[in-house]
Amino acid sequence: MKNFQYVNAPDVEDAVSLLQEPGTKAVAGGTDLLTELKERIKMPEILVNLKTISDMKYIREEKDDLRIGALATLSEIELHRMVRERFPILKEAISVTATPQLRNAATLGGNLCQSVRCWYYRHPDVKCWLKDGDMCYAEDGVNSRHAIFGNSTCIAVHPSDLAPALIALDARIRIAGSEVEGELLLEEFFTLPTETHRQSTLLGAADLVTEVIIPHRFGPSNGVYLKAMERATWSFMLVSAAVQLEWKGDRVREARIVLGGVAGKPWRVREAEAMLQGQTLSEGLAQSVGEAAVANAKALKHNAYKIPLARNLVKRGLLELTRRKA
Ligand SMILES: Cc1cc2nc3c(=O)[nH]c(=O)nc-3n(C[C@H](O)[C@H](O)[C@H](O)COP(=O)(O)OP(=O)(O)OC[C@H]3O[C@@H](n4cnc5c(N)ncnc54)[C@H](O)[C@@H]3O)c2cc1C
Ligand code: SF4
Repeated sequence: MKNFQYVNAPDVEDAVSLLQEPGTKAVAGGTDLLTELKERIKMPEILVNLKTISDMKYIREEKDDLRIGALATLSEIELHRMVRERFPILKEAISVTATPQLRNAATLGGNLCQSVRCWYYRHPDVKCWLKDGDMCYAEDGVNSRHAIFGNSTCIAVHPSDLAPALIALDARIRIAGSEVEGELLLEEFFTLPTETHRQSTLLGAADLVTEVIIPHRFGPSNGVYLKAMERATWSFMLVSAAVQLEWKGDRVREARIVLGGVAGKPWRVREAEAMLQGQTLSEGLAQSVGEAAVANAKALKHNAYKIPLARNLVKRGLLELTRRKA
């Protein structure tokens, strides 16, 4: 690990101002960033500790929204009464994230901004395209964990379990910074990396996530998060599906389906969602929606298994919500 200076940020404004210095990086729980520092994947000169900012760590209800500060830990969110009662999809997503110990330290902001898990990216000696190198080694290499949608020069998938669940809930995100400022849909916060912006969020170097806002739009038991993993715990998703429905009687009034582990950002499948509108759910319809969800998927050499996995998770999610409603 390279030596660095460590600065405690007193508040958001100071943190943003400190981050404007080149070679500076923010740290929250440190569960992802410290690994990158140890492996010399990132080598900042200065680390700005966000945990000293007292007004970024809260979970509170305000009017029709649940507001969660970026420094709230995953455990705090998972155990919060309101989350368990009103947003079980989020609780379910957190309960299959990493391990209880990691969830005690990991924060909401860090989870949404974590780096990709591509093994070439994580190798200290490989300078791939995402690390400002010239090429993507996964394209013709071992790409069994990589994307089946939206492939750009980088084919790594976004690893967060919370992101698909929060997008299914139509969450918004608040950003303070020098390049991006204000509130936007979480769905719009994630991007596919481009030549000039090689990362998976809109954030500039001196921008901070301060808050996530979840509207009380959906009924309490109408969301489900399913995650396929190589082992039952402590494992990143192979594929996941966040399915959120709003019912009107026996019919679906609105559906949101967001896949994880399939693209460089959480992947919303709007064509599949549209098939559900106004319909009564049946096994046949759930199967067709699952098929529509993967209709535009394109497998790489080693990841064709993700297509039936995604299709079946969507189908299972829909049938599970029908069962819970009955
Ligand atoms: C063994 C292991 C298993 C894991 N399994 C899963 C899993 O199954 N599912 C899953 O979703 N995740 C998983 N993770 C990732 C884990 O959830 C993240 O490491 C954690 O959420 C990051 O939060 P943090 O507060 O520790 O972030 P840090 O490590 O402090 O920071 C991570 C990144 O986010 C940036 N950052 C932090 N806070 C902010 C902010 N407020 N605004 C802007 N940028 C910010 C940092 O600069 C850094 O680039 C796993 C991690 C490990 C080590
Ligand atoms: S998939 Fe992305 S992170 Fe992995 S080697 Fe290619 S450019 Fe690098």
